[in-house]
Amino acid sequence: MFSALSPLADNFIHGIISRYNADPRPEKMDLGVGVFRTPEGKSPVMDAIAKAEATLLRLQTSKSYLSMRGHPQFLEAMSHLVFGNKSTNQLIASIQTVGGTGGLRLALQLALLANPDVKLLIGTPTWPIYFSICKSLGIDVFDFKYFDQPSQTLLFENMQRAVTKASPGDLLLLQGPCHNPTGEDLTDDQLTDILQLADLHGISPLVDAAYYGWGQSLDADLKRVAKIFFSSPNAMLVMSCSKAFSLYRERVGLLFVATPDRSTTNIVQANIMGIARNLYSMPPAHGAAAVAQVLGDEAFVASWRMELDGMNRRIKDVRRELAVFGASIPALSAIDRQIGIFSLLPISSTTTATLAKDHAIYLTARGRINVAGLKTGHAKRFCDALACIDQ
Ligand code: PLP
Repeated sequence: MFSALSPLADNFIHGIISRYNADPRPEKMDLGVGVFRTPEGKSPVMDAIAKAEATLLRLQTSKSYLSMRGHPQFLEAMSHLVFGNKSTNQLIASIQTVGGTGGLRLALQLALLANPDVKLLIGTPTWPIYFSICKSLGIDVFDFKYFDQPSQTLLFENMQRAVTKASPGDLLLLQGPCHNPTGEDLTDDQLTDILQLADLHGISPLVDAAYYGWGQSLDADLKRVAKIFFSSPNAMLVMSCSKAFSLYRERVGLLFVATPDRSTTNIVQANIMGIARNLYSMPPAHGAAAVAQVLGDEAFVASWRMELDGMNRRIKDVRRELAVFGASIPALSAIDRQIGIFSLLPISSTTTATLAKDHAIYLTARGRINVAGLKTGHAKRFCDALACIDQ
């Protein structure tokens, strides 16, 4: 039976990880994988999460099933975090998901159930998983160029044109703060414009918020996410807790769906639970319980916010260092303006191959760098390596 299967291309990140792991040079740099790292190169458990987990272990009395919706206090606490006073709005359906990726899959499957002709509008370059999820579901993608890599320019008019050409009922994918892979977000005015235009054409936003807290600030980032969500009566918002809570392997995420009236909320709620039931029944509880524990305790919240702010500061500091050491390197001219851990440098795949071969520096072949992968002293070495390669 399995002889009918075709081999798949190596996942672009797993390929880098295996080449990096196999490299014996002690000075090697992993700038590929999308995780936060300290100046020592560690991706630690956040202090508030570690304490919350200890509390959970002490207090837990059962491993019995939770609801198919997931951990109720987690959903409530996240809703309060993102929507504040508006969190009591009864017109939002919600479900805990298996990471942000699981949330995207669920959201897209829901959209397809609701509208078999739905198309997803995606600006490129982008996170490739959107394309593979759509392919697996049979959803058509309408892609447009969002960012010009050589000139490091955001192409807002292309997004406006795509929305104008789309059909009512289509979805516009908007990443929350810190666009992966470009580090280049819409300005506030552009965001307002595109939301109005989308509304006018009956296009609903599908928000993918994975990097909140690493952009302007946690509060400003969440405000932006909520603004997109409340711009449409049919918006969907997927939140990953992988990055902001450093819970990557625990697979914690959620999906919020805005609905126009109470009866639709109930129908959507039943449908997302039905989809989850067929995919994996219910999500794992541990990571979500840890988030609920943190968000339900003032001292934990203060500690979590402080650590998240520290991550944000480190990301900004590394960007500044790169801008200073790379002041004469054209490929780094936008590094200080862009936000989050990623930038898509205007360098060729030959340059990225030379960085790996001659300097033990690993980034994706297309030139995406995770700036948080640079340990203390690495920014200068990275700039020196880039400067000596003929691009
Ligand atoms: N969205 C984007 C743009 C991402 O880069 C990621 C992770 O890398 C995710 C969503 C979801 O991550 P996870 O499934 O680990 O929560």
